[in-house]
Amino acid sequence: MTREMDVLVIGAGVAGLAAAIAAAGRGLGTLVIDSMWVGGHVNNMPYDVGAGRTGPDLVGDLLMQLDDAGAAFEIVEATAGRLDRDGRAVVDTAAGQIRCSALVIATGREDLVPGAEGTDALRGRGISTCAGCDAPLYRGKDVLLVGGGPYFDDELELVASHAGTVHVLPLGSAPDPLPGNARLLAGRRLVRVEGEGVLARVCVEDPGGGTRWLDVEGLITSGEGAPHTAWLGDLVTLDDSGLVVTDEYAQTSAAGVYAVGCVQSGAPGRVPDVVDAAAETGRRIADAIASRSV
Ligand SMILES: Cc1cc2nc3c(=O)[nH]c(=O)nc-3n(C[C@H](O)[C@H](O)[C@H](O)COP(=O)(O)OP(=O)(O)OC[C@H]3O[C@@H](n4cnc5c(N)ncnc54)[C@H](O)[C@@H]3O)c2cc1C
Repeated sequence: MTREMDVLVIGAGVAGLAAAIAAAGRGLGTLVIDSMWVGGHVNNMPYDVGAGRTGPDLVGDLLMQLDDAGAAFEIVEATAGRLDRDGRAVVDTAAGQIRCSALVIATGREDLVPGAEGTDALRGRGISTCAGCDAPLYRGKDVLLVGGGPYFDDELELVASHAGTVHVLPLGSAPDPLPGNARLLAGRRLVRVEGEGVLARVCVEDPGGGTRWLDVEGLITSGEGAPHTAWLGDLVTLDDSGLVVTDEYAQTSAAGVYAVGCVQSGAPGRVPDVVDAAAETGRRIADAIASRSV
């Protein structure tokens, strides 16, 4: 069975929700789907993400607005996307196909994974990709923080406020200033993690090739990993990092297909800017559909 929608939004992070609210608010039949639940990464931000609201507060507000606007939400994964013969986007899900007049890609990015030997076995056993959720678990304990990006300094501060010693392995420029309990491992590479059932030590390689072990009870990553775009196949043009290329109006290389949020190449990073830009895209989609139907 193929369902028909005016607007189909894939991903119910803040970007997808904002786009859906704006489109549905203009009277378009709008469906948002997400493989997990609403909110995406912002659920991991128990601190002010703008206008004095925590991430979970913002998600709650957006969910109410989504309901008020009359948009529908379903938990199901998008597994493939293509254009049909009429040039309309069709998305495959476990619950069947959905065809739409406008498709919004808002699938975000994966968490940053450490990528060192031994990591898979200890994920969730001392290895965390969510500083906002897990930093308090390491009160007084020694941890390694690996990562980079615009929020690295904030997350270092958060981790340092709980941990005993924080060994800091930046993937880009070194944070400055460093909290008093932080020890910088600039230029090093994490090569191996070990522990009997739970993380106990990590091995880092020095620039000269020598290695050393550090006893830590936590390894926390901070930063954005690969974009969730494999499901798109060749529907739209991606950049070298796998992010969706758009013009300044969030329009992708495929007519009627848009991208918003951190899956979009060159997208704004801060939550309030992401929400504003995605809402603008939702309104623009409504205008485009209205002009096609007159
Ligand atoms: C470590 C870190 C710290 C940050 N700290 C801050 C901060 O302090 N302040 C700030 O303003 N911003 C911060 N940001 C940026 C902020 O998280 C992003 O701008 C924002 O979350 C982007 O939202 P999004 O909706 O684009 O993506 P996401 O939040 O990633 O949502 C994408 C959604 O798509 C779903 N999805 C993925 N693939 C599929 C599929 N195939 N089918 C269905 N659903 C799918 C996912 O389940 C997810 O719910 C931080 C980012 C990181 C990585």
